[in-house]
Amino acid sequence: MSAVPTSSLAIVAAVPGGPEVLATASVRTPSPGPGQLLVRVAAAGVNFIETYERTGTYNVPFPFTPGSEAAGTIVAVGEGVADFAVGQRVATAEGRATYAEYAVVDAAAALPVPDGIPIDVAAALPLQGMTAHYLINSTFKVASGHTVLTHAGAGGVGLLLTQLLKARGARVLTTVSSDAKEALARAAGADEVLRYDGFAPAVRELTGGVGVDVVFDGVGKDTFDGSLAALRTRGMLVLFGGASGQVPPFELQRLNAGGSLFVTRPKLKDHLLDAAERRWRAGELFAAVADGSLDVRIGARYPLARAADAHTDLQARKTTGKVLLVP
Ligand code: NDP
Repeated sequence: MSAVPTSSLAIVAAVPGGPEVLATASVRTPSPGPGQLLVRVAAAGVNFIETYERTGTYNVPFPFTPGSEAAGTIVAVGEGVADFAVGQRVATAEGRATYAEYAVVDAAAALPVPDGIPIDVAAALPLQGMTAHYLINSTFKVASGHTVLTHAGAGGVGLLLTQLLKARGARVLTTVSSDAKEALARAAGADEVLRYDGFAPAVRELTGGVGVDVVFDGVGKDTFDGSLAALRTRGMLVLFGGASGQVPPFELQRLNAGGSLFVTRPKLKDHLLDAAERRWRAGELFAAVADGSLDVRIGARYPLARAADAHTDLQARKTTGKVLLVP
């Protein structure tokens, strides 16, 4: 532990609120407990969930340091850690308080970063990548020939999802809000790129009146009704986020009227249940990056102290791909 300073910088929100509550503070550097690693953070991933936590939409204790995603180098290991050593590079989607210079990571949730994967890519991939992975492998098993609608096609999850879906042989329809985002979605392989206005009738037209097999909807409130209307008979709406706001209570009878539809609301935590599941998802993603079939777009890097700006831009739809904080 000798090289580890006793105090270091972290982002701390004293109370719930807007991006301005994210302040830089000097904190006591955390120590790894049994089964834990202390990681010097090279980059921390910014994810939409942290905006829900910051505002109090999702319940977290305050004062609060956001962040569950990061990559960096192990600087200390706790008691009983056998699989990791100081100096090794690791990433995680399941850390705590990663908007910081140092973060504690459970060894069970740490992903060894393969040689050849840049550390910022390792920070950018785990959370959105494993989300895209479980959505298409575990929530709705996408196969060649499926037609899929995914919203926010130039976003962090969106760009990864589109590439993984195309590699599967699916036809991908997506929505974006600007020409610049359309260009990114097309470069990721999307077959059809739509604007949000009137997307449901457009999808029906593009599918010969049939509708899509599945919608992956992380936008939520603004798109939910259209997503239901874009489904084929017995299609599935996978609501996995609420970038535009949370979807209000839902009348189940609408599933009957829409054509025996399915709706589900999954989360990543339930798809990383054990070491084998983590290894499977992360292993396939790192391998796809290594063989060049998956491009991880880092759309923006902010110094740690500008976490508030990162949140502002993410919520204002100004970002594309992954947003990183660099301590
Ligand atoms: P993105 O990079 O996709 O950013 C959100 C995007 O949503 C924006 O760029 C914007 O793209 C679109 N959007 C549409 N309407 C709005 C609005 N009113 N306000 C803000 N954005 C809007 O974020 P992430 O990739 O980090 O996350 C995408 C979604 O996935 C989020 O809802 C997140 O919570 C969810 N998620 C869920 C997980 C799970 O396991 N359930 C895990 C990870 C993420 P455009 O301008 O093109 O519309």
